[in-house]
Amino acid sequence: MLKAKAQISGLAVYQPGKPISQVKRELQLDTIIKLASNENPYGASPKVQDALVQEAANLASYPEGDGYQIREELAEFYGVEKNQIIFGNGSDEIISFITRAYLDSNSNTVMATPTFSVYKTNAAIEGAEVIEVPLKDGTHDLAEMKKAITEQTKVVWVCNPNNPSGTYVKDSELKSFLQAVPNDILIVLDEAYYEYVTGQEYPDSLTYLQEFPNVLVLRTFSKIYGLASLRIGYGIGAAEVIDALNRVRGPFNTNRMAQAAALAALGDQEYVEDCCKLNQFGKEQFYEALKEMQLFYYPTEGNFILIDVQRKGNEAFDYLLRQGIIVRSGEALGFPTFIRVTIGTKEQNEKVIEALKQMVRVLS
Ligand SMILES: *Cc1c(COP(=O)(O)O)cnc(C)c1O
Repeated sequence: MLKAKAQISGLAVYQPGKPISQVKRELQLDTIIKLASNENPYGASPKVQDALVQEAANLASYPEGDGYQIREELAEFYGVEKNQIIFGNGSDEIISFITRAYLDSNSNTVMATPTFSVYKTNAAIEGAEVIEVPLKDGTHDLAEMKKAITEQTKVVWVCNPNNPSGTYVKDSELKSFLQAVPNDILIVLDEAYYEYVTGQEYPDSLTYLQEFPNVLVLRTFSKIYGLASLRIGYGIGAAEVIDALNRVRGPFNTNRMAQAAALAALGDQEYVEDCCKLNQFGKEQFYEALKEMQLFYYPTEGNFILIDVQRKGNEAFDYLLRQGIIVRSGEALGFPTFIRVTIGTKEQNEKVIEALKQMVRVLS
């Protein structure tokens, strides 16, 4: 009998949002609204199309293993050195580099709960102990996270803004935390929704790298840049941290199309700003409607909103699915009576809100 590593037997396979084509077939509906995976409802910048067409001429060549061009541009964009950046097949892959490089069965890692599930899965694969510290009012409880740290702690994760709650850790809180944590512990700041944040007290985390070389910032082209399908994200940190991660990275881990698309997308910051503004309108749309419906939600800094539907998340999920709307049930996300809805276009949001209003009437 083949036997995989003992620690993976208890792991669940990641459950993505239901595919649109499947739901269309099952429900025989023409239009499905998928607001389950925090994708950009407006897609990528129109500039990406041209870049992809051009790059298609080079499909027979391996990609630049180190992402030469996008590295150069990104370093300039953020004012960091080129050796402070690592690219991953999505920032998900960088999470796996972190656990591979820093965790083993003699170490532990501290994270919030509920938070992004990928940290825990990857830590478990390395056999590390996972220490989970409950959110407080939907937000990372940094004081308790600090207390949870032991001699064996190698990595601490701060998802900022947090997925699925959408809340954020403020600059002053983060700074005290960084000062209090021993500098031989890697602190990962996962900022997948960075470009969407409008909160005034959100940390400018790259400014911390000088003083705290144990900080690694993760960002991605999957969310506001609208390139989720191409799988490209990046980490920015001290050169020594990036060097360690590079040692466990596969040689051609991000592909040509992704690198070309990322380069074009990065070059269109106007598009990013527009998407952020539209997301802001969408948030207001939800806030207003949810207040009227008297449904609790966490104010969000991302492009998603976690709503307490006052019944089982799966029940709400099924109800909305029958209306052709795909969201995420909170049951799998650690919020059993909630759903997580990606902020869509104005029209999509209106439909979701209408369906929620109906649901509250029908299922109450
Ligand atoms: C979506 C998401 C990611 C992963 O993004 P990819 O770059 O597509 O792998 C990472 N962290 C959080 C919190 C996310 O929500």
